[in-house]
Amino acid sequence: MKVLSFSSKQSEDHAKFMRLALREARKAAREGEVPVGAVVVHEGKALARAHNRPLHLHDPSAHAEVLALRRAARKLGNYRLEGCNLYVTIEPCAMCAGAMIYARIGHLIFGARDPKAGASGSALSVVNHPRLNHQFEVTEGVLAQDCAVMLSEFFKRRRQERAAAKLR
Ligand SMILES: [Zn+2]
Repeated sequence: MKVLSFSSKQSEDHAKFMRLALREARKAAREGEVPVGAVVVHEGKALARAHNRPLHLHDPSAHAEVLALRRAARKLGNYRLEGCNLYVTIEPCAMCAGAMIYARIGHLIFGARDPKAGASGSALSVVNHPRLNHQFEVTEGVLAQDCAVMLSEFFKRRRQERAAAKLR
């Protein structure tokens, strides 16, 4: 996977929309969900945003990216999201990468890599797999530190809470 060089205007936009995705991730953390947030951008505007909600929705597919893609598709009245960019705080899993391929998104921008389940080259290579006919641009590392810290803090807190519960 390559990090593409981009103009400063584009890099400003990337940071702006990633901050929106981080805001979504924070909502997930407050709800006790793994803090991942996603934003679908269409014609330079945030069309749909979502945060991770599998616990609350009792839905294993309720990842931030899938929920944001669903909302965007409903708004556009089309499941094909050609020309849309998807921002997500953490490298997408195989399911979400698959949804992005079916949605025909134009560009994936993510913050931090997920070495355990990331499907954009870290654990698996679903994104831009040579056998698949839809390929899209990928930019990684946007506000990566903030995105990674949010996740690691969440798991650290959860471990502490579990340890404390055991002591009781
Ligand atoms: Zn996912």
